[in-house]
Amino acid sequence: MKPHILALLLVTTAAAEPGKPPLTAQTTASGGPLDPAQKKLRLDAADLQLEVDPEREVVNGTATLTLGLLDRTDRIVLDLDRNYTVTAVTVDGVDLTGAWSNPEGRATIKLPKKTAKDATSTTVRITYGGRPHVAVRAPWDGGFVWSRTKDGATWMGSAIQMEGCDLLWPCIDHPTYEPKSMALHITVPKGMKAPANGVLKGVDRLDDGRSTWNWEVRDPTLYGIALNVGPYEELSGSYRSRFGNTIPMFYWYLPGEKAQAEALFGEFAPTLDFYEELIGPYPWGDQKVGVVETPYKGMEHQTINAYGNGYARTPDGFDELFQHEFGHEWFANQLTAANWDDFWLHEGFTAYMQPLYGRWREGEGRYLSMMLASRTGIRNQSPLVTGKPQTAEDVYRKAPGRGGDLYNKGAWILHTLRGQIGDRAFFDAVRLLVYDRPDPAPGNFKPVFRTTPDFIRYVNQVTAKDWQWFFDVYLYQAALPKLVQSRQGDRLTLTWQSPLNRPFPLPVEVQVGDRIERLPMTNGTGSVVIGEGEHVTLDPMSRLLKQDDAVDAYQSWQADRARRSGP
Ligand SMILES: [Zn+2]
Repeated sequence: MKPHILALLLVTTAAAEPGKPPLTAQTTASGGPLDPAQKKLRLDAADLQLEVDPEREVVNGTATLTLGLLDRTDRIVLDLDRNYTVTAVTVDGVDLTGAWSNPEGRATIKLPKKTAKDATSTTVRITYGGRPHVAVRAPWDGGFVWSRTKDGATWMGSAIQMEGCDLLWPCIDHPTYEPKSMALHITVPKGMKAPANGVLKGVDRLDDGRSTWNWEVRDPTLYGIALNVGPYEELSGSYRSRFGNTIPMFYWYLPGEKAQAEALFGEFAPTLDFYEELIGPYPWGDQKVGVVETPYKGMEHQTINAYGNGYARTPDGFDELFQHEFGHEWFANQLTAANWDDFWLHEGFTAYMQPLYGRWREGEGRYLSMMLASRTGIRNQSPLVTGKPQTAEDVYRKAPGRGGDLYNKGAWILHTLRGQIGDRAFFDAVRLLVYDRPDPAPGNFKPVFRTTPDFIRYVNQVTAKDWQWFFDVYLYQAALPKLVQSRQGDRLTLTWQSPLNRPFPLPVEVQVGDRIERLPMTNGTGSVVIGEGEHVTLDPMSRLLKQDDAVDAYQSWQADRARRSGP
């Protein structure tokens, strides 16, 4: 999702006004520790048949899960919002409805006996339904969004990033439990369409006027699965990629917005070209590029990105929300964080793609103006990465400032790194991180789960240098390093002051008069001789993320003003 007012919204809405019906702590959390019984399972495939009734705000469905058995077990443990009523459960065809219990949202099916020694998989079928959890301010809290178009027609979307897949279907709500394949059969009222993930296999017309939309998606990111229902109109086209493949593109938008929709659709091809040139092949070229207009701001739903930006304009000349969510096809859906603790790999990298796109379109001036605009949003109240298993809530809601810093600080750390190691090494490391190979081409890579140490390892590998000190300070410490200057006669000495006095030998550019000197800052210090009357500017190209008195003063003035004007 996109940042900006995010951090503020999370604090105010999450605490004050939860969605309905209420969720248990277990369902509210996404990721974090697994149940020991879940560690014995692998989710291989899922088939969801869902009937959506927007008038009654009800969903009824059947989920068929193919689970790989990694060890013998006497129970199947899944996650499902207990607001759903479960009416039937079978395991390998045997009725075990009576063996289902779900007091807290972590559901257990007690098996009559331990699975056989040689059993490698089991099929679980669960019929469930009811009024699903409604989000208050999606996507910053998750759930269903039941809405109306300008003409009063039904319009619905789901967004479940924060709380996870268990708001939608019985799953294992941990990022690494992606199924290899998933089928979605979504039945919607007459006149409605249901654009969803992956490839459309066909639309069945039912006798009562409803229709069932059949989709198949491979390797879906769990929070990237979404329902969308509305009286959509469709724009489609195909894109000939620089890698030689042809990619189908679709945009489903609300009636009455054709001109704006066509303008946005016109941004798809150049945005694809940017990502393919800088990062590598669009990961889902065998499926589609899909975007759907939603009654909430946006979300990186895999091959069906949510767009609710109202065709807003910015001086940067492109739709930043569309461009951002689309970037998540690489940094969230192809590369998925193995743990929510590493979530800056989704948001920091994707947030950095907007200024890089500004640069690709218009050059360094646009790039730097976009970077500087985001600098004032960095809070430095919590480290970006802790090195421990974390839930979505830990990352976005519990650690002050971390939710917003994932974006702005993440992007500034990447900006600083790129300034040090150069474009070639930077994008080589990113490519290895995303594809697990230096030469990705359509069909020669699979989705990957990644951690922060993976990225550090790749940066070290491509530069043949150890950058651990850089990440130790920027990612694992809350406070920013500070560049302290002192003057003795004509000599200006610069010293890095880092949190916990960690080593921080980050080179600094200094402009003296009309020349720029690069101080290597070995052991965290360096000096330069200043001629008489020469003006000095530190880091004149704003290459470095560092403590900044003006930003700190601006932030406290803002906070003070907000306090005075009241809630
Ligand atoms: Zn995002």
